[in-house]
Amino acid sequence: MESSRIAERIRQLAASATLAMSQKSSELRAAGVDVVNLSVGEPDFATPLHIKEAAKKAIDDNFTHYSPVAGYPGLREAVAEKLRKENHAGYEAAQVVVSTGAKQALSNVVLAVVNPGDEVIIPVPAWVSYVEMVKLAEGKSVLVPAGIEQGFKITPAQLEAAITDRTRLIMLCSPSNPSGAVYSREELRGLVEVLKRYPQVTVLSDEIYEHINYTPEGHVSMAEFPEIADRLVIVNGVSKAYAMTGWRIGYMAGPLEIAKATTKLQGQTTSGTCSIAQKAAEAAYRGPQDCVEEMCQAFRRRRDLIVRLAREIPGLKLDEPQGAFYIFPEISAFLGKSYTVTAPDGTETVSVIRTDADLAMYLLEVAHVATVAGSAFCMPGYLRLSYAAADALLTEAMRRIREALARLA
Ligand code: PMP
Ligand code: GLU
Repeated sequence: MESSRIAERIRQLAASATLAMSQKSSELRAAGVDVVNLSVGEPDFATPLHIKEAAKKAIDDNFTHYSPVAGYPGLREAVAEKLRKENHAGYEAAQVVVSTGAKQALSNVVLAVVNPGDEVIIPVPAWVSYVEMVKLAEGKSVLVPAGIEQGFKITPAQLEAAITDRTRLIMLCSPSNPSGAVYSREELRGLVEVLKRYPQVTVLSDEIYEHINYTPEGHVSMAEFPEIADRLVIVNGVSKAYAMTGWRIGYMAGPLEIAKATTKLQGQTTSGTCSIAQKAAEAAYRGPQDCVEEMCQAFRRRRDLIVRLAREIPGLKLDEPQGAFYIFPEISAFLGKSYTVTAPDGTETVSVIRTDADLAMYLLEVAHVATVAGSAFCMPGYLRLSYAAADALLTEAMRRIREALARLA
């Protein structure tokens, strides 16, 4: 616990559970434990060669100085073109702001539109950082629950019931981290029908998993709905589609007023993001796209594998995810169960699994598999496992989990 030397705003902020669990598994691995890390969500593929070459060229061409705060014009234009071509969105380059990952783009937008006390609607389960970003903006998160029984998707009626005079923002994410749920065009239309009656609500659509989508319909962007175009902000980036998590390039595209506001904020915090990574991202958008499809196909095969293995484990309740690279099984059958640990001196201690976090810790310590508890995504009673890992690792992880869960009594 931090002392009063640390500001209240940070003391009440939760640490990122995804990053914390990943760090914990790295520490165990450094100590010689053979951990399978299915906690953090990032593609295990290498960044495609032509993108790496563009970065090397950027260094040789001396793109090593400060870049414009909102990003190089060439990259902003490439993003605007991508949005026009793939998402039917009519954004100009001036409406695109490049940031240090989609994470900074999201937090910029939240800080730019949320006043203290404003309400922000977040369908849950939701990615760990949304609620914390709202806290930093001194807003109030209004969580709208959508569990496995409703396919992890909120209904128009739920949305309508959550909107008040104080609602300023809604944060949507499809395909979803952590559930892998994908809203169809019809389902999104249902939400838009409600949203169009509330012009004061800015709509933030996090489409970072756009290209990891297994539905026949494919990705439907919120930009396809002209009714809300004047207050829609799209967030996306290169981390997931091009296996570029470490390069830290994401962006927002939206109304010019919001683009200017986030640029002003970024100009006082981080400045323009890494010049070399921006050149690499431009190559990603302008270059051949077959790498994106190939990685998606690999994720689909792994999805099929992990879903099959997870369904063989008694007690896990699972929906087949339609996008992203996570499974989010319901684990309440294991709550209240216990296990016995025998110390080297022979003394036995009985521990009870009371929460999803206890179960994640048990799996880490006993099965040596790192997962993330559903409560980190504001949905207790679930676990998130990332399947962005090789087949052999997934098979081994599920074997260990199965054995460890079978030992609970
Ligand atoms: N949104 C969601 C839903 C995510 O899962 C991630 C990945 N951590 C991000 C945004 C941020 O991605 P990045 O900052 O790597 O672009
Ligand atoms: N999207 C990843 C995850 O959810 C990255 C980790 C993070 O930035 O929180 O695991």
